[in-house]
Amino acid sequence: MEYQDLGVAPIVSAQANSTPLGGCTLSDGVIAAMGNAARFHIDLDQLWRAAGSFLAEVTGSEDACPVTGAAAGMAIVVAACVAGTDTLRIQRLPDPGDQPDEIVLQKGHSISYGGAPITQMIALGGGRTVEVGAVNETLRSHIAGAITRRTAALVYVTSRTHAVHRKGVPLDELVAIGREHGVPVIVDAAGESDLRRWVASGADLVIYSGPKMLGAPTSGFICGGSELVAACRAQYAGIARPMKVGKENLLGLLQAVREYAAIPEEERAAEQQVRMTKLAARLDKLPGLSTRVAQDDSGRMIYRVLLTVDPALAGRSAATLAEELTAGFPSIYLRDFKLHLGQLEVDPRALSPDGEEAVVRRLEELLDRSGARTDVEAAR
Ligand SMILES: *Cc1c(COP(=O)(O)O)cnc(C)c1O
Repeated sequence: MEYQDLGVAPIVSAQANSTPLGGCTLSDGVIAAMGNAARFHIDLDQLWRAAGSFLAEVTGSEDACPVTGAAAGMAIVVAACVAGTDTLRIQRLPDPGDQPDEIVLQKGHSISYGGAPITQMIALGGGRTVEVGAVNETLRSHIAGAITRRTAALVYVTSRTHAVHRKGVPLDELVAIGREHGVPVIVDAAGESDLRRWVASGADLVIYSGPKMLGAPTSGFICGGSELVAACRAQYAGIARPMKVGKENLLGLLQAVREYAAIPEEERAAEQQVRMTKLAARLDKLPGLSTRVAQDDSGRMIYRVLLTVDPALAGRSAATLAEELTAGFPSIYLRDFKLHLGQLEVDPRALSPDGEEAVVRRLEELLDRSGARTDVEAAR
């Protein structure tokens, strides 16, 4: 069976690896690892523990537990913090019984993952979210003041594109508050590129998504202290059962992480900069577009082409241009986080060389040949 048998056409993602666009494309090494994994039976529990040791080594943590994705990871870590390894408690979830179930979250971190709210994942794990502070400001005292005997964990979301960090409580302070009160700190590092930084922060559990940055199939993992990770694994006898990651995706995840960790981040970033600089120069020639290469706002080592659309010269707004790109063939998705500023971005992470050519060709077609006016016309 292929996509075309179903009438589904592949698209070009210049939007990075997002779940709605099918996660990421896989390397030949990852595809081979998944194919080989599919040919044998194994003891899944043994495979999981071995995978945990491998991921722990790569992340500098004590142990790790594979999951189907970061959203599942959030439900599972909360369940682990609420029910621990007690089978009766685990099997009563999402009813927490008499266990502490409050999960303290800064209001600015109360995100949704393309529609599914983080608070719902917390509820699925038996937690009750206690949002503190305001969307644009949370103080240390808001967090400390919300901790009671019913507190099960503190949650921190790293993403700067989704969460609001300006005037929030930074992770090191959250970790200090957690230590002071004996409450675990959970980090949602779904789209993060650094495999060691978040564990090194002193957080108790860190959640990663497989496809976002790591080049893995639909998957993810939780890493952290051995006791809490064991409690995460124990949830597979409860609410985590419908979120079980199979052997093929698990081997794909491990191969992807191995390949990812073998290339220093600086090298990947330098290659992106070269590619995006060339692409920016080509697109800058088109009427109505001005381009520059810009680093990720949150300081991650990602370099994108930032396109500023001049509606007078381009004959359409950035929003219309984005719609035309998705409506064309192949359908092309640019990153649209700055649409309100009249800007679009080309993100290199999911973009193949062929995809890059498709972006240039389509923008040339749209801007050179139709609608767009030349400078001379616009000046009149
Ligand atoms: C994408 C994302 C998730 C969800 O990840 P999945 O692996 O798709 O479940 C969770 N948290 C953040 C911050 C994300 O960006």
